[in-house]
Amino acid sequence: MAKLTVNDLDVSGKRVFVRVDYNVPMEEKDGQMVVNDSTRIKETLPTLELLAKKGAKIILAAHLGRPKGQREATMSLKPVAKVLSEMIKKPVAFVDDCVGEQVELAVSKLNPGDILLLENVRYYNQEEENNPEFAAKLAANADVYVNDAFGAAHRAHASTEGIATAIVKKGGKAVAGLLMERELKFLGDELENASRPFVVILGGAKVSDKIKVIDTLLDKADTILIGGAMAYTFKLAEGLKVGQSLVEPDKVEVARAAVEKAKKKNVQFLIPSDNVVATPFKTDKLNKKGKPVIELQNPRVNAEKNIPDSEEGVDIGPATAKTYAEVISKAKTVLWNGPMGIFEDPRFAEGTFAVARAVVEATQKNGAKSIIGGGDSVKAINKAKLGDKVTFMSTGGGASLEFLEGKMLPGVAALSDK
Ligand code: AMP
Repeated sequence: MAKLTVNDLDVSGKRVFVRVDYNVPMEEKDGQMVVNDSTRIKETLPTLELLAKKGAKIILAAHLGRPKGQREATMSLKPVAKVLSEMIKKPVAFVDDCVGEQVELAVSKLNPGDILLLENVRYYNQEEENNPEFAAKLAANADVYVNDAFGAAHRAHASTEGIATAIVKKGGKAVAGLLMERELKFLGDELENASRPFVVILGGAKVSDKIKVIDTLLDKADTILIGGAMAYTFKLAEGLKVGQSLVEPDKVEVARAAVEKAKKKNVQFLIPSDNVVATPFKTDKLNKKGKPVIELQNPRVNAEKNIPDSEEGVDIGPATAKTYAEVISKAKTVLWNGPMGIFEDPRFAEGTFAVARAVVEATQKNGAKSIIGGGDSVKAINKAKLGDKVTFMSTGGGASLEFLEGKMLPGVAALSDK
C-alpha cells in the first residue's frame, strides 16, 4: 500500500515532528565530540528544505549510539545541530531533552521554517520499549509526523512507530519523508516490477543473514550471483572442499534447498568457480578481545573448485569475476547486497571492485537500474569511488535486508496510506 509523503500535505504553520537517522560516527577532538562523517545529515536536507519552504515548524528527533536509557554525554546530538546548521545555512536550535516542558517551550518559540533538534531519544529506555505513554509525550508537541529514518524503520520504537500511531490517533497524519520515499520506491516498487533481465548479486559473511532474502528474490530474479564467505556454504552443499574458509555447516541444507528452488523456478544460480585463497597464520599479537590475531598470508588464485585444507577463501577469483561481469553487463535491473570478499583488505578487494565496475557499466551503457542494498556493499562501492555512478544506494543496513526479505517494516506500516 502506497504511503502518504511530505509532498501530499499542507504543513504551513504546523508543528512537524521529523524522525531522522542522525546516528552518525563521532570522535573526540580536544575534549569535544565532533561529527566524523556527515553523509546521513546531508541526506535529510531535501526533506528539511521542502518542509521549511512549505512553512513547517520543524522538530527533529533521532537516536545516537546505545546509551541504554542513560544521559551519556558522548552520545549527545548537540554537535549534530551545529553541522546541520552549517549545511542548511540557517540556525538550528537545540534542546537538551526530547519530551517535557523544556521541549514544549522550545517548540512554542518556533516560527514557520525554523528548525529545532531534540536530544537523543535513547536517553530514555521507553524509546526502545515503544512505551505508549512516552510516544504520546513525543507526539504532544506535534501536529504531523514525518519518518525519514529508513535505517531505523525496522525497529518498532516510540519515535519510529509509537508516535506515528499517537499522532494519527489525535487526528494528524503520519507520512514518509523524501529519503524514505526513495528507499520504498527503489527497494520496493522498482524490484517488484523490475525490467528484465533482473540480476541479483549477494555476498557477505553469512548464509544465515541472507537466506530469507535469497528465498524472496528467487521468486523475482532471473539470475542470482553468489560471492563472499556465503559462497563456501553453497560449495559445501555441492560436496566440495572449502579448507579453512568461513562456513556455516549447519546451513548446508538451507543452501541446498535454495539451489533446488532456483532449478524449479528456472533462475540461473551461480557460485564462484575460482577463488583467491590465503593461508591463515596465528600471530603472537592479541586483538581487543585478547584473542590471537590471525594474519592471512601467501594469497594466490585457486582455479580449482576445491580449496586445499590449509587455505581459506577470501575473494572470488578472476574467472568468476569475468563471468559475473558478463552476466551483469546484460542486466536491466541489478540489486547488490554484500561484498564478494574481505574487501577491507586491499589484497582481497578486487572481486568486489570488479563487480562494482560491472554494475556501473551496466548502468551507464545498458541503462540498467542499479540498486545497492545497503551495508557493506555501499562501503565497498564508495571505496571504489563509484558511489555517484549507480542509480540508488540504500541508507539502511538491517532495515534494507528486512525490507528485501519482503517484511513490512513497523516504521513504514505505521504511516498513513495514500
Ligand atoms: P555482511 O555484513 O553479511 O554483508 O558481510 C560483510 C563482511 O563479510 C565484510 O566485512 C567482509 O569482510 C566479509 N566477507 C566477505 N567475504 C568473506 C570471506 N570470503 N571470508 C570472510 N569474510 C568475508
